[in-house]
Amino acid sequence: MSEPSIFTRILQGEIPGEIIAETENAFVLRDIAPQAPVHLLVIPKTQEYRNVVELAAGDPALLTELVGLAHTVAAEHSDGDFRLIFNTGPGAGQTVFHVHAHVLAGGLEEGRLGG
Ligand code: 5GP
Repeated sequence: MSEPSIFTRILQGEIPGEIIAETENAFVLRDIAPQAPVHLLVIPKTQEYRNVVELAAGDPALLTELVGLAHTVAAEHSDGDFRLIFNTGPGAGQTVFHVHAHVLAGGLEEGRLGG
């Protein structure tokens, strides 16, 4: 069994974190270093999957659930429009190897991907 990830430790209340939503299989944490007016992390409770590629292969229904939860919290905390990012691998900036989706929302019209 691997060491608990930082997200698992927050979920278990060992270290502080602002959990703004929770379902049977997932939870939503406000990012400690926001990169947008609304920056949330949608995280499965299991830390079995290191990244979105592993999650898609191992439990596609859980991946679908994360997308639905991202939509729900984007609607609750902004206007429902959002950017969903899964950093995958250290070369792409992933630092926590417990799969999570970044939900960025609010004032994203500037600097959009693809120009
Ligand atoms: P990654 O770089 O792996 O895609 O994303 C990890 C994210 O977790 C980063 O955006 C970082 O700011 C956030 N993060 C790291 N440690 C903590 C923490 O202790 N609390 C919270 N709320 N967010 C964290």
